[in-house]
Amino acid sequence: MTLRVDVLTTFPEMFAPEAPGALGLSIPARARRAGLVEWHATNIRDYAANKHDKTDDRPFGGGPGMVMMCQPVWDAVQAVEAQDPRPATRILMTPQGRPLSQEIVEGLARMPRLLIIAGHYEGLDERVIEKLTPMELSIGDYVLSGGELAAMVLMDAVIRLLPGALGDEESSTQDSFSMIGPNGERLLDCPHYTRPREWMGLAVPEVLISGDHGKVAQWRLAESLRRTQERRPDLLGPPDGR
Ligand code: SAM
Repeated sequence: MTLRVDVLTTFPEMFAPEAPGALGLSIPARARRAGLVEWHATNIRDYAANKHDKTDDRPFGGGPGMVMMCQPVWDAVQAVEAQDPRPATRILMTPQGRPLSQEIVEGLARMPRLLIIAGHYEGLDERVIEKLTPMELSIGDYVLSGGELAAMVLMDAVIRLLPGALGDEESSTQDSFSMIGPNGERLLDCPHYTRPREWMGLAVPEVLISGDHGKVAQWRLAESLRRTQERRPDLLGPPDGR
């Protein structure tokens, strides 16, 4: 089944499938060509019911910036949802959302259809968020000028998990945050090496050229645990800080 992703944006050109940007090359592009995913960018401006195709207006209460108006966003969502009978998971990219995690990405990769709203300016009028009740997701504690890059980050992370998207079916399970430790924790990946065996006086760890698959697996798990302990001890702690 092809995953359908709709992006609602005022900059649909950024998502043109043939554009050699984040989604037009490499794994997302291959997955699209293989029919694992299709994405459609809809211009919110096309749904503006005012004569200047305005999608934003000045904030009540004054202050800097513009606010995206309810009506164009609401109408765009209704129109896009009606294009396909499959229910869409509504997502709003916002720095105030739940921090995006591999666990959330895994859940979204199992959905038939995603509808992602990318904000701009000061963001959306709160009332349309209240009515749409989207899942609100943040890609980190910093502010981008628009939700488009955040939407692309989410799309890339989801697309690479679609069955068949990666050359080696196993490889995503060995990646950081997908790799599960002995106590069910999400671990960081182990270090990787390739030829030559020695470079600038640094040798590849002996075990990796031993040909002993059991020992290699043991070493990798130990390295993953060590790295996680060193760099992200929070991942090894009890879930939710309990
Ligand atoms: N005034 C908003 C605030 O302080 O929460 C920031 C608005 S930001 C300039 C414009 C748009 O960029 C947002 O509506 C959102 O779609 C997107 N955006 C910015 N930072 C983001 C982040 N960390 N994660 C996800 N989306 C983000």
